[in-house]
Amino acid sequence: MLVRLTVPTKRRSQLEDVTERVQQVVASSGVDEGVCYLFVPHTTAGVTINEAADPAVVHDMLNYLDELVPTEASFLHAEGNSDAHIKAALVGHSAALPIEGGALVLGTWQGIYLAEFDGPRPRTVMVKVVAG
Ligand code: ZN
Repeated sequence: MLVRLTVPTKRRSQLEDVTERVQQVVASSGVDEGVCYLFVPHTTAGVTINEAADPAVVHDMLNYLDELVPTEASFLHAEGNSDAHIKAALVGHSAALPIEGGALVLGTWQGIYLAEFDGPRPRTVMVKVVAG
């Protein structure tokens, strides 16, 4: 079973918490022990796991990525969104999480984020739950 979650984003750059939605996919799969694979099929968005308790962390991460990869740098790519491509490459496009007792195994402060860098637009997070 491969589930495609549609995640609408609201800003050019944002980290959208999808933890609960992924957890719902795991719960409805009926898998008790296994692995949950996540894949984001976009070139200017990705997926990352990080702190979901203090919103300042998300703010700091996005601000630092903007400082690291400025939008106005002299890139060749004619579409004008090379910074978004680079930021998406930095956070990555996939993740794998263990499943134990029918639930995702996450650290106390961890959440799963769709990482948007060229929004707003609808994005897809693909979720594959494998028993084992
Ligand atoms: Zn582009």
